Amino acid sequence: MRTAYNDLTEGLRLFVHSWDIFDEGANRIVEFARKSHIEFLNVAVSYHAGRFMLPHNPTKRMYTAEEGTVYFEPHPEQYSNSRIKPIRSDIYKNLDVMEVLSGAIDGTGIGINAWTVCFHNAVFASKFPELAVVDPYGSPDHNYLCPTRTENFNYVVNLISDIAENYEVSTVQLESLSFPNGVRHGYHHENFLVPINPVASFLFSTCYCSSCQNVTSDMGFDLVEIKGKAKRFIDRSLTFEENNSEVYLTDEYRELEPFLDNLFSIKNKIVTETYRKLREIIHRKFPKLKISLISNPETNRNQGINLSSIADHLDAVDYLVYFQDAKNIHDSVLKAKTDLSKKAKLVPALKMGYPFSYKEDIIQKNMRAVLDCGIDGINFYNYGWVTSEVLESLGNAIKKTL
Ligand SMILES: [Zn+2]
Repeated sequence: MRTAYNDLTEGLRLFVHSWDIFDEGANRIVEFARKSHIEFLNVAVSYHAGRFMLPHNPTKRMYTAEEGTVYFEPHPEQYSNSRIKPIRSDIYKNLDVMEVLSGAIDGTGIGINAWTVCFHNAVFASKFPELAVVDPYGSPDHNYLCPTRTENFNYVVNLISDIAENYEVSTVQLESLSFPNGVRHGYHHENFLVPINPVASFLFSTCYCSSCQNVTSDMGFDLVEIKGKAKRFIDRSLTFEENNSEVYLTDEYRELEPFLDNLFSIKNKIVTETYRKLREIIHRKFPKLKISLISNPETNRNQGINLSSIADHLDAVDYLVYFQDAKNIHDSVLKAKTDLSKKAKLVPALKMGYPFSYKEDIIQKNMRAVLDCGIDGINFYNYGWVTSEVLESLGNAIKKTL
C-alpha cells in the first residue's frame, strides 16, 4: 500500500451523510472504509434539504432531508452572541452522529472531518430575512444568509467551536461560507419563463443589503450605484432572445460590463476576509484544527471565491471536480494547483456513481488523473448515493491504483 503515492498527507476521504450512519450503522461504514484504505470520513454535521435516492440503505430508497439542521447535540452556551441557534434534526433527534462515529472509529486509525454547510440555510434566512442576502430589487433570498452580517459569521464560528470543543475532528470542511451559487436553486417549484443570462445570475447571487453597502464603502466602492447598474442590466437581459440557458459566469464576461469587474473584486474581498477572520479565531482556540474550503470550479466566481487570494487563509481546499472526462478533471485540478501555489493543501473530490466514476476502470482512470497533478489527498463523493457495486469497485480501484 502507498508505494507510488505515499505523499498524500491529507489521505483518502469519503463523504458520508449522517442518515447513512444512523440507518446502516457506523460499524458497517467504518469497516468499508478500513478495508478500502479510506483514512477519513467526511461526515455532514450541518446539512441542507434535498431529495436523494439511497440505493443500499436498509430502511428506505428515497429520502427527503430536512433543511438546515445539525446532526449532533449542540451546546447552547456556545451560541450566546448570535440570534441564530442550531436546529437539531427532528428525524434523528435522539442520535448524535459525532458520538456514534467517534465510538465506531476508535482503534481503527480512521479520522473524522466535519463537513459543515454554513450560509446556505433556508430556515434561518426565512426566519431572519434581515440577515439574508438581498437582491438588487430589495427582496431577501430565503435560501442564503449574507456573508457580511456579524451574526451570521458568529454563528459559523460558534458551530465550529461547538464541534471542535466536544469531538475529535481533523478538518472542518466549509461549504457555502460565501455568496450563493447563482439565481437558480431548485427551491420550492422555482420557475422562470424568461431567459436567464449568466451575468444576471451573477448579479442575483450578490448581496446589496445595508451591511454590504457599509463594507463595500470602506473598500472604496459605491454599491448603491452598482445596484442601479445591476437592475438595468437584469431588466434588459430578461428580453434577450438568445443565450437563454444559464451557465455560470466565465472570465470573458468581465469585459462585457465594466461594473462587473468591481463586483468581482468586492465579492472576492468579502469572502477572503471572512475566511481570514474565521481561521484566525479558530486557530487561536483550536491550533490543530484544519480549515478547508469546499470549492466548485464552476461556481467559484459567483460565490466570490478566488483561490489565489484566499489560499493564504486556508489549510486545504476540497476541490470538486465533478466531471465525466478524465482530461477535464486533470486540467481543472492543475489550474487549482497553480492558483493555490502550495499555500494550501489540494484535495480533489471525485464524484462517484453514474455517469461519473461508476466502474472500476473509470475510477482508476480518474484517480490517476488527479494523482498525476501532484495532490495532497483524494475525496470520494459520496457513500450513500451510489450502489454497493460502485462501493466495491471503489475499494478495488484504490487497491489497484495506490
Ligand atoms: Zn449583505
